[in-house]
Amino acid sequence: MSVQVLKVDWPFNAEPPKMYCPVCGTRLDEEEGKYCEHVDFIFLPEVDDFHHVSAEFQPIVDGIRKVIEDAEEDSDDELASIHDKLLEMDDLGTNVLIEMTTSGMACGPTSFTVLYGFGLYKESSND
Ligand SMILES: [Zn+2]
Repeated sequence: MSVQVLKVDWPFNAEPPKMYCPVCGTRLDEEEGKYCEHVDFIFLPEVDDFHHVSAEFQPIVDGIRKVIEDAEEDSDDELASIHDKLLEMDDLGTNVLIEMTTSGMACGPTSFTVLYGFGLYKESSND
């Protein structure tokens, strides 16, 4: 069972969407950096880095970074990006990724992609 990816192209020049957790309905507060336990990560492909990683998901991110570092030593290989690795993840059948691309005019047409990783199944730790 591999990860499920939902790709959404937001309409050109539309106000960026407010994202909510599909499990508990909590609003993702990207300004304050406050997320519910179901948000495993938020990844920004254009900057090739994470905006947020949950403590639980951190070991997976560390594993991905290790694989990429090892690949860089074998410099003949095509380098994989963190983005590719996230989309290739296996054994994360309870995860859903939403890849949201917004676009609009800045100094010309621009687009920006955010990859949200949700863990749909979490054992509740506090109740
Ligand atoms: Zn939630």
